[in-house]
Amino acid sequence: MADTETQREAVLDAIENVADRIEAEKEYLTDLDSAIGDADHGANMSRGFRAVAEKTADADDGEVADLVKTVGVTLISEVGGASGPLYGGSIMSASAELSEGITAETSVAFAEAYLDKVQERGKAEIGAKTMVDALTPAVHTYKKSIEQDDLPPLTALAKAVDAAERGVRFTVPIKARKGRASYLDWRSVGHQDPGATSTLFIVEELLATAEEYLEGDVDVDAASPDVPEEEPTPEDD
Ligand code: ADP
Ligand code: MG
Repeated sequence: MADTETQREAVLDAIENVADRIEAEKEYLTDLDSAIGDADHGANMSRGFRAVAEKTADADDGEVADLVKTVGVTLISEVGGASGPLYGGSIMSASAELSEGITAETSVAFAEAYLDKVQERGKAEIGAKTMVDALTPAVHTYKKSIEQDDLPPLTALAKAVDAAERGVRFTVPIKARKGRASYLDWRSVGHQDPGATSTLFIVEELLATAEEYLEGDVDVDAASPDVPEEEPTPEDD
């Protein structure tokens, strides 16, 4: 990608876009959390990203990895709840993958490291009705689009948004098995997970920011399909 200064500018724009989006969706996230949690997800996330935006506003030198690390550290100290350490701690750890700057390759490494940390900390499998349900398909789609399908990062990110959206919808009919919502057991069925939803908003804002900086196709239908037309036949051993 571009020089360090442009990368830093892109990260700062991403932070601002995410902070604005979370602020705009604060009540919605709180409503989702009031149905199956304790009605604080919107407040937690908006407090966290407001602090991040303030803390990083005048970062005009330094490496992007350090800037991203600051995002994580600030979220840990400001967000609290289950989502603070999950978002903040995982961003903090994954920031090391950006030590050589942001490229298609390091962005995949960052995304994978972030997902790994979220799972290591939260111990939620896919289908437990958590942020992992939006994050896993998004990260896998992004990685596959870049490494196997050789798509431009912008197209890969657009496909990741699509995958995260499907992940969010998938949380609705399932029963929570992790986090506060799991206390409700079957009564959590029929409600959308707040953390999966905030994850989608963040990935959407990363795409919106990337559109300002990268060339590529954001029409995901124009990209190669994920699912083959024909049923695969099992290979003989
Ligand atoms: P709290 O549950 O402490 O009030 P928040 O309301 O800020 O924290 O965040 C709730 C979200 O955190 C849930 O919607 C879910 O997506 C996510 N979450 C909770 N526990 C876990 C976990 N063990 N692994 C992954 N995500 C989790
Ligand atoms: Mg909550």
